[in-house]
Amino acid sequence: MTRPRTPRKFHLSKMLGTGQLTTAVAALGVAGFILLGYQFISLRQTLTADVTVHAAIMADNIAASLMFRDSEAATEMLRSFRPAPFLQEAAVFDRGGKIFAWYRRDGAAAPRSQFWIEPVAVTRPVVYRGTELGQVRLVADTSGIRDSLWRYGTLLGLAFLGALVTSGLVSRKMRSRMARAERELAYLAYTDPVTDLPNRRAGHEALDTMIERARIKGEKVGLLLIDLDNFKVVNDTAGHDAGDHLLRLVAGLLRDQTRETDLVARIGGDEFVVIAGPLHGSDELHVLAERIIAALQQPLQLDGLEFVATASIGSAVFPDDADSAPELVSNADTALYDAKDAGRNRLGQFRREMIVAAQRRAQLERDLRRALEHGALDVFYQPQFDCPSRTLVGVEALVRWKHPEHGYIGPDEFIPIAEQSGLIGELGRFVLERACVDIHALGEYTGLPLTVAVNVSARQFREDEFLQVVQDILARSGLPAERLELELTESVLMDDVTRAVDFMHAIRRLGVRMSIDDFGTGYSSLSYLQSFPIDQLKLDRSFVRPLPAGGATLASAVIALAHGFNLAVVAEGVETPEQLAWLQAAGCDVAQGYLLGRPMPIDALREQVAAVVV
Ligand code: C2E
Ligand code: CA
Ligand code: CA
Repeated sequence: MTRPRTPRKFHLSKMLGTGQLTTAVAALGVAGFILLGYQFISLRQTLTADVTVHAAIMADNIAASLMFRDSEAATEMLRSFRPAPFLQEAAVFDRGGKIFAWYRRDGAAAPRSQFWIEPVAVTRPVVYRGTELGQVRLVADTSGIRDSLWRYGTLLGLAFLGALVTSGLVSRKMRSRMARAERELAYLAYTDPVTDLPNRRAGHEALDTMIERARIKGEKVGLLLIDLDNFKVVNDTAGHDAGDHLLRLVAGLLRDQTRETDLVARIGGDEFVVIAGPLHGSDELHVLAERIIAALQQPLQLDGLEFVATASIGSAVFPDDADSAPELVSNADTALYDAKDAGRNRLGQFRREMIVAAQRRAQLERDLRRALEHGALDVFYQPQFDCPSRTLVGVEALVRWKHPEHGYIGPDEFIPIAEQSGLIGELGRFVLERACVDIHALGEYTGLPLTVAVNVSARQFREDEFLQVVQDILARSGLPAERLELELTESVLMDDVTRAVDFMHAIRRLGVRMSIDDFGTGYSSLSYLQSFPIDQLKLDRSFVRPLPAGGATLASAVIALAHGFNLAVVAEGVETPEQLAWLQAAGCDVAQGYLLGRPMPIDALREQVAAVVV
């Protein structure tokens, strides 16, 4: 499997080391030169001052010798410089500029430059009572300055070297630390810390690369978008550690199912991708996808509990289904949407028609928005009968949309659109309000206090203001709370168990009843019958359909179970008298279905009720 690549744009660690060292060397060099220069100037100034003092003293002392032209005395006087080793040469000139007396240090050569340092020469006039008698000239040797500068220079050089070595060591250490930090950052930027798989960014970059390579070589690349179906349930019921554990198990499983050349990445909470390439044909990708689905159906052990992590997969192939990476991702996503829509735990293979369906969805969303604004939605009511007495006791409110072009559109098609587009809140409020108002008015008119069941979608239930909405609508419509029932599906409850339980308690405190819709089609976990504050179960149509010839054992078990938990049972989709008779005998509490009445407008319901009452 391809590993995430490290970005190779620039390395701060390398730049930092070299840059720092160069700067340090330059700064030390300049400082060393300045110090040496300063030292030279001050040594030379001191020497010049010394020589000047000696010259001045000598000029005073030698005046008499000059005046009496006693050159021997003058020479003797000059020899007094012997204890001053830096004075190399001394001379006295008479008024005419001729040499009068002269001295040079024993064994010394004529004064000359020490390297580039000129000897220091000072000339002073010899004056007696305002008259210049001649001049004294002293020449000092600068080898002392030279030696001092040498010593000083060597010291600076050593300090310079020491600093260089230290800063080299420090910067090497820093460089290795920086390099390590950079490696870690690159790893984090391209790796998912939970599963150790390449992350979303790495996945995208790898897809780009693989597609470009396939384009050049004329090969195919397959993309699988994998979405775990019930990850949230695991996270909520078993905790986040178990959730992480599950993700790691799935990651391992995906790695096992794929080839060395394929890339597996985690691109979101419970979303993975497999980029398979090169492919010999699109069948190869579908075989791989089916293998993954089959592998995921095996129960996984999570902290002593058993879980099945089924997944929905969307697939698309380059260049058959798309000719760029973004289009491939978008088409695989459309196929994934299709797989989820078709009931999850399956593969959706991208087809061009899916784009048409997606466009239709987008168009429907725009139309639905308008329908909500213009009151083009309606609510129908389907009667519910008490089983033992066969009397009408309530209705279920079902939304209807008469589309101006496409005609009647069922809620199965537009409720998911309303949920995804966020229109569900408004739609739900509309249905709830209309249902409460209609059924309250119907009760006033006929004197029959029917209950009304209203479907609540997951998204609506998650909205914080939902409780307030229910309260307000009850108050406005005048319908007593105990005549309202809210129907929730199992998946709504499983989304966030703790929150769902709190919320349901709050709703029940209002006096509103709660039922579980489509019982048996979702998780059908026995445990939630205990933990959720519910009043009844709605036995799904699929349980009723095979009755009485088949499915009797299952249906009676569910009825017995519900009664065991003190819950009423409403049977849905009752279409034949035989089904009704069986349900009645099995102790079912309420029946609903085409046999007893189809969903109808409020006027039709009013007529039916009036007929019953009269
Ligand atoms: P559901 O809650 O399970 O509603 C019962 C569905 O079964 C209704 O379909 C109803 O027309 C249909 N039905 C009733 N009796 C029979 C029968 O004997 N045989 C058969 N084959 N079908 C029967 P409908 O009205 O198309 O609603 C479909 C789903 O749309 C509902 O399923 C419900 O989940 C959702 N829905 C409907 N109205 C609303 C609403 O106002 N809000 C929300 N959130 N969802 C709604
Ligand atoms: Ca329902
Ligand atoms: Ca139902």
